[in-house]
Amino acid sequence: MDRQRQAHHGTEQRKEGAGPPRHVRVAIVGSGFGGLGAAVRLRQEGITDFVVLERGDAVGGTWRDNTYPGAACDVPSHLYSYSFAPNPDWRRAFSRQSDIRAYTEHVTEVFGIRPHLRLRHEVQRLTWDGAALLWRIETTGADFTADVVVSATGPLSDPVVPDVPGLDGFPGEVFHSSRWNHGTELSGQRVAVVGTGASAAQIVPRVQPAAAALTLFQRTPPWVLPKLDRPITAAERLLHRHVPLTAAARRGALWAVRELQVRAFTRGTGELRAAQAIARAHLARHVKDPALRAALTPSYRMGCKRILLSNDYYPALTRPNTTVVASGLAEVRGSTLIADDGTATEADVIVFATGFRVTNLPVAERVVGAGGTTLAESWGQGMRALRGIAVDGFPNFLTIIGPNTGLGNSSMILMIESQLNYLADFMRQLRILGGPTALAPRPEAVASWGDFVERRLEHSIWNTGNCRSWYLDRFGRNTTLWPGTTGEFRRLLREVDLGEYEILRTAPTAPAAPGRSGSAAVPSTTAPAPEAAA
Ligand code: NAP
Repeated sequence: MDRQRQAHHGTEQRKEGAGPPRHVRVAIVGSGFGGLGAAVRLRQEGITDFVVLERGDAVGGTWRDNTYPGAACDVPSHLYSYSFAPNPDWRRAFSRQSDIRAYTEHVTEVFGIRPHLRLRHEVQRLTWDGAALLWRIETTGADFTADVVVSATGPLSDPVVPDVPGLDGFPGEVFHSSRWNHGTELSGQRVAVVGTGASAAQIVPRVQPAAAALTLFQRTPPWVLPKLDRPITAAERLLHRHVPLTAAARRGALWAVRELQVRAFTRGTGELRAAQAIARAHLARHVKDPALRAALTPSYRMGCKRILLSNDYYPALTRPNTTVVASGLAEVRGSTLIADDGTATEADVIVFATGFRVTNLPVAERVVGAGGTTLAESWGQGMRALRGIAVDGFPNFLTIIGPNTGLGNSSMILMIESQLNYLADFMRQLRILGGPTALAPRPEAVASWGDFVERRLEHSIWNTGNCRSWYLDRFGRNTTLWPGTTGEFRRLLREVDLGEYEILRTAPTAPAAPGRSGSAAVPSTTAPAPEAAA
């Protein structure tokens, strides 16, 4: 059973309020797929003393924020959903944003997460209190203390807008793809789209038809494969609803195919060359103009950057009102956009589809661990975490979609669920250990995991494919992707190996620390025998 906090329990104080913050067993930060999944998993483990802190005014994370025209998933619906919440009613092979967002709301409701949610509670500071063995959490709403923090803020949540000289003087509307300004009328406007990632590829075909002119600033052309999308028929849905095994089989097949593809990415085997040929044929079929075709042909190996799936991206680029500037946006002079190659373009609106802060997460600056070091400082030479989830110097802190847990070709929800298994065992271990206890990853365990992942990545297409992508950090190290199958990751995160942790305890006789009733203020460190996990 969870240690219950007798004092202050259930009395959340506003910042302005007089009382101490409420103590919870677990504070989850973020309510996207990671945070919601963690919440469901805690409840399934019988843990109900937790809050989900969310800076926005609704759940859904990236699927709440990305409302740009054409927003959809490029992972099939039956795989891009929780295994514990199958949805027989997916309407398309690849779901649109609105359906995925509705699914996150549905999960919130059905699994009883709503009472745990604290919307408009942006975490400003998470500070480890090593004497009391708890996290002190300051938010824009109420403050809390927690035994365990689960950080599920997601890598695709904080947009990047490049620092383009003169941008401030642009007279028209400017916005990022993930902060779409629906109040801006784009029809009849000269729209500039900057970037050619997955977001731009979905935006361009939707904006192009009504725009007076669309200019795409392309620094690097993507590899684009046809998207085998279609509506899921009523008969299929009926079958999935009444014979759930059919939906499970569908999911299983989608999963298995992607598991088999992994070697092509991690070892650079031949399958990607075949896919490259399909992509070239796709380009040749839609783009007849040799100059445009040449500009749209990538010079790096497929898979190095995320492969895009689209049937309407290339056709949109061939329309008379569309121009591809095969160069980055370098400067803005009034309403004139200057590319790196000197091309000048007039625009009324600029849409930045320029990605996210993935390898330098803003939230890391707000997390202060043992010894007063921030997570950002700790990750100054690159992100690393034990099994992609626990960081040395940050006890009782688990990060969902942590370093090297991303995927290039399958559903992130599979990876999230493996991390939730680990979270569940982490909570079990704390309960077995009893008393105020914290698990602090041993630096050598973190280093050894990091070395293992790095070695695996050496020959991967992401590291050797001759491209620059958001998978790599500023040192050129791949700190985002998992170099294996989702099945292997699942096995590796099935349970916590206590040998990889120091067990921190407080001395039982010391006086109670603020924020924790009945706990002690003097920490003592015990090195456990690995068998303690048994
Ligand atoms: P992204 O993949 O990081 O792409 C950013 C783009 O901006 C790149 O093409 C980059 O060029 C370009 N760029 C940056 N600065 C520029 C400049 N000054 N001038 C011209 N171009 C510039 O971002 P994203 O498209 O938002 O996608 C991020 C990730 O979100 C995806 O990889 C995917 O994981 C996810 N996502 C998924 C879906 C889906 O499921 N369908 C949809 C959207 C996003 P370089 O390539 O030269 O760096």
